Parts: sequence; C-alpha cells; structure tokens
Amino acid sequence: MTARIIDGKAIAAELRAGLAARVAAIAAAGERVPGLAVVLVGEDPASQVYVGSKVRQTTEIGMRSIEHRLPAETTEAELLALVARLNTDPEIDGILVQLPLPKAINADKVIEAIDPAKDVDGFHPVNVGRLATGGRALVPCTPRGAMRLVKSVGTALSGLHAVIVGRSNIVGKPMAQLLLAEDCTVTIAHSRTRDLPALCRTADILVAAVGRPALIGAAHVKPGAIVIDVGINRVPGADGRSRLVGDVDFAAVRSVAGAITPVPGGVGPMTIACLLENTLDAHAARRG
Ligand code: NDP
Repeated sequence: MTARIIDGKAIAAELRAGLAARVAAIAAAGERVPGLAVVLVGEDPASQVYVGSKVRQTTEIGMRSIEHRLPAETTEAELLALVARLNTDPEIDGILVQLPLPKAINADKVIEAIDPAKDVDGFHPVNVGRLATGGRALVPCTPRGAMRLVKSVGTALSGLHAVIVGRSNIVGKPMAQLLLAEDCTVTIAHSRTRDLPALCRTADILVAAVGRPALIGAAHVKPGAIVIDVGINRVPGADGRSRLVGDVDFAAVRSVAGAITPVPGGVGPMTIACLLENTLDAHAARRG
C-alpha cells in the first residue's frame, strides 16, 4: 500500500481563501475588519520568522495586523501593561504573544493576563478548560489545523483508536481533546510509555508531536492508519545544508499507512491559517 499524501499546503490555502471571503464580506458591509495584535519580545531568529509570516498572512486575507516588537530587556510589568492595553482596545480581536519569552518574564503570567475572548493561541486556562468541558473555546492553532487534516481524509472517526505521541499543552493534550470530541478512543503516549511501537500499532489515527526525527517508523504503524506528523526538526542534509523533517520516517511509513502528512507541507501551513481562523472567530464572538 502507498499512503495518500495529505496536502496541508493546499488545504491551508483553501482555508485562507474562505477566511479572506469572510473578511471581504465584513468590509463590504461597512463593518470594522478583524484586528490581530502580535507581540514579539527580543530577537529570537525563529520567532522573527514566525511573526513575519503571521503578519504577512494576516494582511493578505484583508485583516488588520498590529505589530509590537519590544526589546529583549522589556520587563514583565511593561509586557503586562501592553497586554492590558490590548485587552481594552476595541479594534483588537486577537492577541498573540510569541513564545518563547525571555527568561526574566513569566510566560504563564502573561498568558493568564490575556483576555480569554482575545486569546487566539488558545493557551489561557479558561480556553483550556472550555475545550476540556466541551464549551465554546478558542482552540490552539496547531491541533486545530491537524484535526482539519484528519477530517480531510473523509473517514468516519467515531470509535476509532487515536494514539497521540507527546503530551504538551500546546499540541498533545488539546489534540487529545479534539479527537475525543469526535468520539475517538484516545491514548496519549509520552517519554515514559512502555513499548511505544506496539501501542502505536493499535492506532487507527497516529499523531506524532515529539520533536525527534524518525521516531516513528514502519514498525509503529498499523496498515491503513492515518498518520499526522506534527514534528518539526532541523537536520543536516546530504548537501551540508540543514533541512526540515518530522517525527515520522516518511519514506518507510508511506508504504504502510493509508494517509500521511508530509514535513514540510503538512501540519505546518495549517497552524497560521488556524490562527487567522481563530481571530475571525474571536471577532465574530465579540460582535455577538
Ligand atoms: P514538547 O517538547 O513540549 O513535548 C514533546 C513530547 O514528546 C513530550 O510529551 C515528551 O514526553 C514526548 N517525548 C519525548 N521523547 C519521547 C519518546 N522517545 N517517546 C515518546 N514520547 C516522547 O514539544 P511540543 O509539543 O511543543 O512540539 C512537538 C513537536 O511539534 C516539535 O517538533 C515542535 O517543533 C513541533 N511543533 C510543530 C508545530 C507546527 O506548526 N507544525 C507547532 C508546535 C510544535 P514527556 O512529557 O514525558 O517529556
């Protein structure tokens, strides 16, 4: 069997086109278009790239992007004061504070200071709690995007066994909640799990969110399973330049799985698209 490749790039482009149409309809009705505030503290190179992409894609679909680039020496009090201002700014629907923050700033405290209605990353405990209890929540962007990719396969999900490898707050745990909400039977694996290959082989849906290249090989995959690779790892390429790979040994698993996401071009492009979707949802909820 050769797995069908789930084209995250194309699905993300389709999602963005739909969001652009929603924004255009808001503008055509003479209403204020959604605004996303992105806050970057310091000069972390990867964060600068992510923020650049977020800003570009926000404006490309017609939304307002408001950037706050602060020096690495910014104090926690200064950042909290900015968050407080953004919370009360009627033009702002979403607030994203790019992580990681400099060590001197308590990231949990900053996340908890964001108005849950504007928490487009879905990291505020109120949104985490609402997701867990089945309420109306802003859902973390990467699992939201990964879930869309699972659904794109078109398989009925009810009753399937989903195994998620990785239990982080930003990917593994919310992904488990989303699959549970689709009536999957969900198992979360982590670094202490015994016999990971055997557990993974019981999965109809296997989600890898670890950060270890080629952790998941053919021996981990049930024939025909849906495999979602969230991992992003930079490894040296044959030409000496680095390249991106996921947590799944793509070439080996492709011949066993039924459907598989590539890296790059799988979950990655969905994350920012879902951030834009969350911002539009936050805008809609705030308008009532
Ligand atoms: P974390 O480091 O927060 O979590 C990694 C998880 O993997 C932990 O739960 C850890 O277990 C588990 N783990 C580590 N080693 C093993 C092992 N050998 N076997 C089984 N489980 C193991 O990572 P994140 O959740 O933040 O990110 C995971 C990956 O996803 C990374 O590659 C990251 O770059 C990528 N990512 C991609 C995004 C995208 O847009 N596509 C967005 C966010 C992340 P334990 O808890 O026991 O330590």
